[in-house]
Amino acid sequence: MPAVSVTDLGGDLYLVDAHLHDEAERLACYLFDTPNRVLIECGPSRSIGHLYEALAAIGVDDVAVLAVTHIHLDHAGGAGHFAQRFPGSRIGVHEQGARHLISPERLWASAERIYTPQGMLDLWGTMEPVPADRLLVLDEGGRIPLGNGRHVEVMYTPGHARHHIVFYEAETGACMIGDSVGLAFPHGHLVHPNTPPPDFDPHLVAHQMRRIAARSPAFLGFAHFGPDRTPAATLEAAERRMWAWVEWVEAAAAQDDAGLETRMREWVLAGYRAEGYPEEVIARYDRNTYWPMQAAGIRRWLSGRS
Ligand SMILES: [Zn+2]
Repeated sequence: MPAVSVTDLGGDLYLVDAHLHDEAERLACYLFDTPNRVLIECGPSRSIGHLYEALAAIGVDDVAVLAVTHIHLDHAGGAGHFAQRFPGSRIGVHEQGARHLISPERLWASAERIYTPQGMLDLWGTMEPVPADRLLVLDEGGRIPLGNGRHVEVMYTPGHARHHIVFYEAETGACMIGDSVGLAFPHGHLVHPNTPPPDFDPHLVAHQMRRIAARSPAFLGFAHFGPDRTPAATLEAAERRMWAWVEWVEAAAAQDDAGLETRMREWVLAGYRAEGYPEEVIARYDRNTYWPMQAAGIRRWLSGRS
């Protein structure tokens, strides 16, 4: 069993390591331990027991709102289980994700095509529906009250997924960005793009990065994984790297389609080596990337472009 890991980020905000896949630093949940407790992300049901343990360890026995940035299984797969475990909670999600939490069958079936039925259970565990009357539908400009006059502001940020939202809180200056910007593991400032089908759209992603930068957050709360305290520089670098990936896939696919994801992986990892990142850092990004999906997402966007 992984040890409980909760980090105080100040201002009643805590980073709770959800120990996704039973490993440290794979998925960060963020908890506002305020009069109305708000938790951001819950992870899949397969590992949600680690989240429950961490919440219990810090004395959290009720949560007012669980808000998810988007409904990809590594972020929200356990939302229905969470709703059962915390019967007083509401589950916050963008309108375009809400129907998939109420009736997860379609989301499940499409993920099953990627991961296989056994893979689904091994990686994510089952999904339970969220009762419709427990949903809190969120959109641009929405506010989730924390109590004492504080609230979490909602930004609608399609790009990684069309139903993606991010959360900003003024007192801490925290912006919990889900997957909207990419992945950035601790102990380095490398932002690795996250470009899955069917929704990935680099123009939208870049647009959201600029909107997030315009809020001048004190830090970005990456879901994968943790706070980044140089948001302006990080967002700029993230945008540059994302376009480099798109341009590489466009050029490579035009030449030869065969083994595109393998060649993409080799190109990306060789690039990180050339930039001087240590091998263990590179291995970690590699391990957290499902390359066929990254290549497919970019190709899908390229092919749909008019
Ligand atoms: Zn995602």
